Amino acid sequence: MTSFALHGVGVSAGIAIGRAQLISHATLEVAHYTIDTGSVSAEIARFDNALREVQRELEGLHAAMTGGDAPAEFGAFLDVHWMILTDPTLSDTPKKIIAEQRCNAEWALVQQMNVLVDQFDAIDDLYLRERKADVVQVVERILKRLLGKPGAVAPAGAEQHTILVAHDLSPADVIQFKQHRYAAFLTDVGGATSHTAIVARSLAVPAVVATHNARQLIRENELLIVDGTNNVVIVNPDKSVLAEYRLKQGELSLERARLRRLVSKAATSIDGVAIELQANIELPGDLAQTLENGATGIGLFRSEFLFLNREGLPSEDEQFEAFRSVAEGMQGKPVTIRTFDLGADKEAAGLEGLARVAPNPALGLRAVRFCLAEPRLFLTQLRAILRASHYGKVKILIPMLVSIGEIDQTLAMIAQAKETLREQGVPFDSGVPIGGMIEIPAAVLAIASFLKRLDFVSIGTNDLIQYTLAVDRADDTVSHLYDPLHPAVLMLLAMAIAAANKAKIPIAVCGEMAGEARLTRLLLGLGLTNLSMHPAHLLAIKQRVLTTDIGHARALVARILRTEDPARVAKLLDKLNE
Ligand code: PEP
Ligand code: MG
Repeated sequence: MTSFALHGVGVSAGIAIGRAQLISHATLEVAHYTIDTGSVSAEIARFDNALREVQRELEGLHAAMTGGDAPAEFGAFLDVHWMILTDPTLSDTPKKIIAEQRCNAEWALVQQMNVLVDQFDAIDDLYLRERKADVVQVVERILKRLLGKPGAVAPAGAEQHTILVAHDLSPADVIQFKQHRYAAFLTDVGGATSHTAIVARSLAVPAVVATHNARQLIRENELLIVDGTNNVVIVNPDKSVLAEYRLKQGELSLERARLRRLVSKAATSIDGVAIELQANIELPGDLAQTLENGATGIGLFRSEFLFLNREGLPSEDEQFEAFRSVAEGMQGKPVTIRTFDLGADKEAAGLEGLARVAPNPALGLRAVRFCLAEPRLFLTQLRAILRASHYGKVKILIPMLVSIGEIDQTLAMIAQAKETLREQGVPFDSGVPIGGMIEIPAAVLAIASFLKRLDFVSIGTNDLIQYTLAVDRADDTVSHLYDPLHPAVLMLLAMAIAAANKAKIPIAVCGEMAGEARLTRLLLGLGLTNLSMHPAHLLAIKQRVLTTDIGHARALVARILRTEDPARVAKLLDKLNE
């Protein structure tokens, strides 16, 4: 087996060594595990049940359209699905695979789907070739039924040495991995601050994106080393390389153990400035990691993740329960809930009718724009957040504000939500602080008027950089232009921080810059005292804070701000980090 290296963009640091598992989109939700001989007939029965349910589903659809005004093609389409479903290649062969390979039903079905898809790909006739999509759709219907009634859970530990290799993953895909413990993952595409990368970091497993053709070059089960720190993947490493990486892995875990000693230490700089180090979370399940790493609060709860990977939208009660569990779990420490930032790279099922596919989604109906366009959904969430404010120290954070008009409209909606709760006698914190995200250059330039209306602000550097430099954060073809040290970015940060500090309005950074140890002293030197980041980074950043003299950092940062030459800026940053 030849050994080779692939280069990409490391989006989550660390080293993993494991076997490749190739995944295609339709198989994303599919666990892959072996079952014992005694469970084979139960697994086959589970598969048969799922088939029957899909048959009933198709019959129901057929019945619903008879006599209705559905177009004739719809009937033909259902007929094709019926034929595929009942064809022995799909209804029988997976059962043979279950019995022969003793694997779970989902995995048997996906293996057979891949065989069929390859056969379709080889067909010359375009019409027939395109029926491949129908096979995938039917398989997805069956998978949905199977996943609704999962079989045995994958044996604990089986995933720990598995490295997922995919062409692309959406944030919704990656969030599902939270239930598993994969060793690492890599993708062909993706940018370093895409939400996919952010969620990868939140899994605290090494990840490399933008490898371009990993999915094609790597074979199932090949041995891989993923080095997320050095942006490299080594396929089929030889013995000496493997030994070297095992050594490095050992050093990293020693370093992690050393950092663990800082958990309950206060983050105070050498010259006595107390720094808040808070956590960014996506789901209530992230609470454990947040507490384990000693966060002094939650600076960003990306609430839109409650809307992903599900059918329909979460109800007010469901959202309330999620927010309440986090508010209670943080035991009086602040919990900053960002109202949902859907749109751009995060699409929720159940909103398809509302959020049309925009020609330029990052500049489209995203975040607060979408909320104000759909006041019913927004009010539902605001009520849920307000209700949770009774159970802890909740703050509301509004994403992507660009004008004071949006702030005024949002404040009016919050007042309306409060009024409805008051009428119903539902308790909430009437003084819940309302903050805004500063993530568009216009918001920095107009910050004085924002600061008059808001209780706090938080800089979303991921979007601020994207919108300042006109670089799509999810597009790896321009990721070389994505530069947190660009003078324009530094100038905007300095402006926003100085204005907020002068107005005595608390300001934080909750973008990825906050979790990069290389940039900690820069941010502290700019006058920040509150950083919110992925929990996995908290201790490394705390270590930085503990060794920083902020007075000294200020002077060097002032020089960086006056420097035009990027090479000189890099040198000064190195000096700052000495
Ligand atoms: C940001 O833009 O920096 C931010 C924190 O929000 P998100 O990454 O969710 O867009
Ligand atoms: Mg943002």
